[in-house]
Amino acid sequence: MKKIILSSIVCISLASCSGNKQKEETKTVVDMNPQFDKYKEQFIENLWKIYPGWASSQGYHKYDSILIVPNEESRSKELAFAKSNLDSLKTYDLNSLSDNNKTDYYMIENQLKSIDWSINEQKSFEWNPSEYNVSGAFAEMLNGNYDSLDIRLRNFYLKMANIPAYYEAAKKNIKNPTLEHTQLAIEQNLGGISVFEKDFHEALNKVHFGEHEKQSMEATAKESVKAIKDFSDWLKKLDNKTPRSFRLGKELYAKKFEFDIHSGYTIDQIYEKAITHKKELHQNLYQLADKLWNKYIDNPLTWGQRGPLPKPKDSLQLIKMVIDKISEKHVKPEDFQTAIEEQMPVLIDFIKKKDLIYIDPSKPLVVRKEPDYMAGVAGASISAPGPYDKNGNTYYNVGSLSGWDKEKAESYLREYNHYILQILNIHEAIPGHYTQLVYSNQSPSLIKSLFGNNAMIEGWAVYTERMMLENGYGNNEDEMWLMYYKWNLRSTCNTILDYSVHTKNMSREEAMNLLMNEAFQQKTEAEGKWRRVSVTQVQLCCYFTGYTEIYDFREELKKQMGDKFDLKKFHEKFLNYGSAPVKYIKELMLAEMEKESIN
Ligand code: ZN
Ligand code: ZN
Repeated sequence: MKKIILSSIVCISLASCSGNKQKEETKTVVDMNPQFDKYKEQFIENLWKIYPGWASSQGYHKYDSILIVPNEESRSKELAFAKSNLDSLKTYDLNSLSDNNKTDYYMIENQLKSIDWSINEQKSFEWNPSEYNVSGAFAEMLNGNYDSLDIRLRNFYLKMANIPAYYEAAKKNIKNPTLEHTQLAIEQNLGGISVFEKDFHEALNKVHFGEHEKQSMEATAKESVKAIKDFSDWLKKLDNKTPRSFRLGKELYAKKFEFDIHSGYTIDQIYEKAITHKKELHQNLYQLADKLWNKYIDNPLTWGQRGPLPKPKDSLQLIKMVIDKISEKHVKPEDFQTAIEEQMPVLIDFIKKKDLIYIDPSKPLVVRKEPDYMAGVAGASISAPGPYDKNGNTYYNVGSLSGWDKEKAESYLREYNHYILQILNIHEAIPGHYTQLVYSNQSPSLIKSLFGNNAMIEGWAVYTERMMLENGYGNNEDEMWLMYYKWNLRSTCNTILDYSVHTKNMSREEAMNLLMNEAFQQKTEAEGKWRRVSVTQVQLCCYFTGYTEIYDFREELKKQMGDKFDLKKFHEKFLNYGSAPVKYIKELMLAEMEKESIN
């Protein structure tokens, strides 16, 4: 990889050096940005006609009343949309576009190719019954406050009309589905029925519609419930003698990785890197755990006559013992939110003092208790306003542990102990997700808000964890580094797990061994991870892949630039490109540096 990149830099510099000829060529390039901007607007307007449900979820509510029936006809429309837009893209000369438009171009192209591939190659509409579930979209219409309840309920009613046809089409599509996705579909569809049976009914009681109108609304809701139950029954009774394996297989997996992660590395390269990285992490962990053994497990002061306790022969076991002991240092359940709030100014001060990245003081982050409709998903998350709601606040949602039984709360707090909680704050808030968001909002691109590259977004957050520690956050305490390495093992092993399960036939037992013994996860966490890997593909790789790409890129630049490398500048420049795939940011940054060094 490195060689290829270096040679492309050489090409650029040769071209720039050829003087006059180059200048003449640049003259003939017409600025196509205004045209491309218009094209993008039209593209999104058409995208929403094909995917009205997606539009609603992004805060664009023009097509709220439409439910697309997932049949042959709608798939042909998607394919035609992809094809005609791929043709349109070809009319734009990439050299005539700004950096922002260049990355938008690549991201649109990737999205369109991915549509074509999903329908023609992946065909999950045949084997994944859990793709068919309407309740989430309808629940959002009841919860959202973007319109009056009257309008939302009338759209809800109109949208329900297609529910029976929707599930009939689903039945026609499904062929030899996987058992895992069949089970998931049954659970999720039955779980969503309350939206039509209970929530909708309750909402209707709050408005003043005529009796007649209310009655037909209730009747349609009943038919919807019936269609969902029918579908679940149909799945339960399905004569599925040759179910498909939930494992995606090597070929499809590699392609899905290309589309979803959009990385400069292939999955095989990433897998090799993850394996090597895991080894390094284990070595680092062992060194620290060995050093901390006396402080936490066997204090020389208590040796007396007996001398030191024998350390476990198995290095992984030694690491686990030390991690478990240090995890006991954590906040009280009732102090969880306050501890997070108090962390924010500390992180900002540290970043300022070390000059790591500019943090815009006019856009503070609002820490709040997790709203009720999110409850259950404990922990912390960032809620950013959608692309159509620019003035909304950005929130740091913190789950409350009130009402949890003691044991559950204790296990959770050990997981998010004194050290990990700080790393979590770096990841979710500053300078992780929240800071990245502030930067990406400065060069607004609707395309990037909609197709934002997950590997870049998660990769940045994971990268900042290490970057902060490298710069002395946590005073280089052994405990902090130990916990960091353990935390980093999680995303590393997620990648190994996902790839091994989907392409190397890794068994459940092997997976549990990897997660519990090699990544030090609790049993419930590991079991949850197994469930997740058996119904998703590739998603678990985005953290490690993005992190690796960013970290490798930075190290490469440091090597090239020597003394001239400026960490703050690197961070700010990198984030200014928005949530684009790392490989394009890298390409553009290198090209810009090349220009700067010539001028
Ligand atoms: Zn405790
Ligand atoms: Zn994240």
